[in-house]
Amino acid sequence: MNLFTSLATQIGVTDEVDTCSCCGKTNLKRTVVFETTQDWQGDGGDQFVFFGTTCATNAKSKAKKRFNDIRSKVNAEGLTESEQRDKAAREKVKVDYARFLVNRGHSLPEAWDIVRHIESQPNGVYRMATKLKLSAIA
Ligand SMILES: [Zn+2]
Repeated sequence: MNLFTSLATQIGVTDEVDTCSCCGKTNLKRTVVFETTQDWQGDGGDQFVFFGTTCATNAKSKAKKRFNDIRSKVNAEGLTESEQRDKAAREKVKVDYARFLVNRGHSLPEAWDIVRHIESQPNGVYRMATKLKLSAIA
């Protein structure tokens, strides 16, 4: 598995990371955030990778067929594999973020109140994921 085949889902675009994980180019105005596959993460890979827009376009065209193959496998609950994986990934982000808040002195109930509040906002889970990612780098 290489970095291209590790990409599971395009999460969005951020200006908080300015280095392309693919080619190493720096000082980018923005990067495209991809969540990686469970297999990739299981092998110790990062949960999120950040690609410059050129590399992101290349990656998406290579990955498009594979994404379509995955989406076409609808499971018994009516969720595609990628949707299920997204749901699991969102839950993991929420748990990790609650843990992050507890480490910063919040009680667990407070932490979950905060997580639920952020989750209810636009791109809330993505913002929590980005913050976790950045705090891991810092
Ligand atoms: Zn690049």
